[in-house]
Amino acid sequence: MRAMGVRTKKGPRFLLTPEWWPEDRDLRDPTKRSSGLCRALEPGSPVPVTVKHAPPDFASQLCSQQLRDSGQVTSLFEPQQFQRVEFSRMASEYDVVNLGQGFPDFPPPDFAVQAFQLALSSDFMLNQYTKAFGYPPLTEILASFFGKLLGQEIDPLKNVLVTVGAYGALFTAFQALVDEGDEVIIIEPFFDCYEPMTLMAGGRPVFVTLKLSPTQDGELDSASNWQLDPTELASKFTSRTKALVLNTPNNPLGKVFSEAELELVASLCQQHDVICISDEVYQWLVYDGHQHISIASLPGMWERTLTIGSAGKSFSATGWKVGWALGPDRLLKHLRTVHQNTIYHCPTQGQAAVAQSFQHEQAHFGQASSYFVQLPEAVLRSRDHMVRSLQSVGLRPVIPQGSYFLIADISDFKSKMPDLPGDAEEPYDSRFVKWMIRNKGLAAIPASIFYSMPHRKHFDHYVRFCFVKDESTLQAMDEKLQRWKTELRP
Ligand code: PMP
Repeated sequence: MRAMGVRTKKGPRFLLTPEWWPEDRDLRDPTKRSSGLCRALEPGSPVPVTVKHAPPDFASQLCSQQLRDSGQVTSLFEPQQFQRVEFSRMASEYDVVNLGQGFPDFPPPDFAVQAFQLALSSDFMLNQYTKAFGYPPLTEILASFFGKLLGQEIDPLKNVLVTVGAYGALFTAFQALVDEGDEVIIIEPFFDCYEPMTLMAGGRPVFVTLKLSPTQDGELDSASNWQLDPTELASKFTSRTKALVLNTPNNPLGKVFSEAELELVASLCQQHDVICISDEVYQWLVYDGHQHISIASLPGMWERTLTIGSAGKSFSATGWKVGWALGPDRLLKHLRTVHQNTIYHCPTQGQAAVAQSFQHEQAHFGQASSYFVQLPEAVLRSRDHMVRSLQSVGLRPVIPQGSYFLIADISDFKSKMPDLPGDAEEPYDSRFVKWMIRNKGLAAIPASIFYSMPHRKHFDHYVRFCFVKDESTLQAMDEKLQRWKTELRP
């Protein structure tokens, strides 16, 4: 792993040593900056060498806005990378209704909880290690469940890897498949770990932005209006392109990619011999008659796709951290090597509970008794509730067709109160969220953090809300919004 670095297009790549960058150090605060050892890695050299004591503002120079805007420097440890964490921490410090971080605040379904209880109390061997690449009953049920959906004969031993959440599957995939200098196409807005994971593997992220087609005056925007420009997408493929990351339904926008869009991505991947890393953790959460399509099910795509899923999202149990990657052996064998030499085993009892939960879903598939049918129905009600409520104070939601997130347009606030407190360089949406946490008791996440650095300034007029929340939380949100609305009266 080649982590903790600052990458420049020309010249050396700098590695910041841990003593120089303790985890909680905030570079924007000069009192917390210190000098320390700085290591430079000459291009082509496998070993970082200590070259000098860095001046206190060394990293901030490297990460200066000017350099970042020029696209010459991307910093893994640029403070913005921690924003999602920072906002979650801030939300916990204030008396707020937290609509920022993405987790359900209601229990998992009874059958899943009972499955976990059984895993704890039945066979004592479930307290011990299991097979490195997945607890066999889990790999078997994942193979048969997803085999039907993807139209593939899936071998539990060769085509399934169980990981520490979908995060684990993503990290393992980047480490296994992306080599120094490889390009990885990322569609933005994107789940924010794809960029650092590409960099940590030595790759170069190449961004392609979803384009918004204009809406009629007064009409609410919809995530399906945010589309790929086929010519622009095609122009991003080069001889160095190793992979494209697809996320459908998408976080933070809630866009569900259509069959035509997936066919476009698929044909470009085939034409340029590129791997598709398909993050489908929200696959059960689709609304308004939209359909989730796995790109691996399209002709010719199984052989070049990793399909990544999450039990946390599937069974409303994000703390269980059970995820998986499905794909052809020619790709998965490399993931197994990384997994074996990093994590080796995932906790057995959680896997047993997930295996049992999928047994339940397989028996009830497509019926009213299936959780994968019930969950989107319930979450759709929460989406509609939130969409109605946010508008009462002038926040303009972009209607999502999937996932449990939406972004809301805050342009009106940006023009009416442009001077919210904060650093001059800080994007407006970030200042807005801090203002909203402090003054309105509502927490969200600024949407610009889901964009690459050069594009952030064009997307600082959206904030992300999470609606996978209990009725009582949504009522608490309504009370805060009601108070806010009263303050707006002249
Ligand atoms: N991918 C996306 C798009 C996500 O939103 C998340 C969680 N927020 C993950 C992957 C990680 O899933 P897990 O909790 O299973 O690691």
